[in-house]
Amino acid sequence: MKIPLSSSGGPTMASYHSENRCTWCDGCGDYGIWTAVKRALVEMGIPPHSVLLCYDVGCHGNGSDKVQGYRFHGLHGRVLPFAAGAKLANMKLPVMAFGGDGASFSEGIGHLVHSIRSNYPIVFVLHNNGNYGLTTGQASSLTWQGQKMNTSPNGMPEHTLPSMDFVFSLEPTFVARGFSGDIPQMVDILKAALQHRGFAFVDMLQACPTYNHFATHNYLLERCYHVENHDTKDFVKARQLAVDTKEKIATGILYQNEDIPSFYEQLVPRQKIKTTLVDEVKMHDVGGLMKEFV
Ligand code: SF4
Repeated sequence: MKIPLSSSGGPTMASYHSENRCTWCDGCGDYGIWTAVKRALVEMGIPPHSVLLCYDVGCHGNGSDKVQGYRFHGLHGRVLPFAAGAKLANMKLPVMAFGGDGASFSEGIGHLVHSIRSNYPIVFVLHNNGNYGLTTGQASSLTWQGQKMNTSPNGMPEHTLPSMDFVFSLEPTFVARGFSGDIPQMVDILKAALQHRGFAFVDMLQACPTYNHFATHNYLLERCYHVENHDTKDFVKARQLAVDTKEKIATGILYQNEDIPSFYEQLVPRQKIKTTLVDEVKMHDVGGLMKEFV
C-alpha cells in the first residue's frame, strides 16, 4: 500500500489514515486520543513506517487497525513487555504503548512497576476511563469507590487505587496528564513524551459516556486546567499536583527528569555500539536455525 506523503515528503494526517472504520461509541474519548497521537507523529515528521504502536486489550486497543504504522495488539495487561522488548531490539524506532486503566493497574500492574523503575525508553499512554469498557462496564481499580457498575450494582466496595501517588512512589522520570477533550494539549504532551530519554508515563483522562457516569466529559472539562509556571523538575510539587484532583485537575507535563539514563543506556555490553540488535541479526544467516522449528 502506498502511503500518502506531503509534497516535501513528510507525513500528513492522511498518511496515518486507515480504511477501517472506528467502532467506538459516540462521544468516546478514544477519538480524541487517537487524533492527538496521529497529529503528534505528523508534527514530529515521523511517518507510519518509522514508528511502532503497541496496543493492550481494551476499547482503545480496537483502534490498532484504525491507524497506519507498525502495530502490535497483544494480550491483556501485557503491552509494556512487548513494547519494551521491541524498543530494545531497535533503538532507532520510536515506540508507543497504549493500555487501559483496568489492564494497567490490575492484570499488568507488575509490568508497569518494572517499566517505570527500569526507565525503558518508550512512551506509555494510559487510556484512563475508570472502567473496563470493552467488557461492558466492569469496575476497574480506578473506578471511584461506591460507583454502581455492571459488576457492582450496589456500588464498588473497594477503595480506589491512588494511581498517580502509586506512579510517583516508583520514582518515574516523566509524568504528564492530558484530557481527551483537549487535543492541542495532548499533542504537546505526546511530542515531549516521544523526545523523553526514558519511560514517559502519560495519564490520559478520557470520557466513556457509555459506562462511566461519574468522571464524564463535562466533569473533566470543568475541572481540568493547564498547569503553568510549574518547575517540572520539582518532584514534590509535581506529585502534589498529580494527586490533588478533588476540586481541580492539573494537566500538562507534571514531572520530567532527563538526568537518569534509560535502561538501554545502562546496559554495559551495548555501550558505544552504534548498530541495533535488529541490524546485527541481519548479519547472521539464521536460515539453518529456523529449519529446526519447521
Ligand atoms: Fe469508548 Fe466506553 Fe464505548 Fe468503550 S464502552 S468505546 S471506552 S465509550
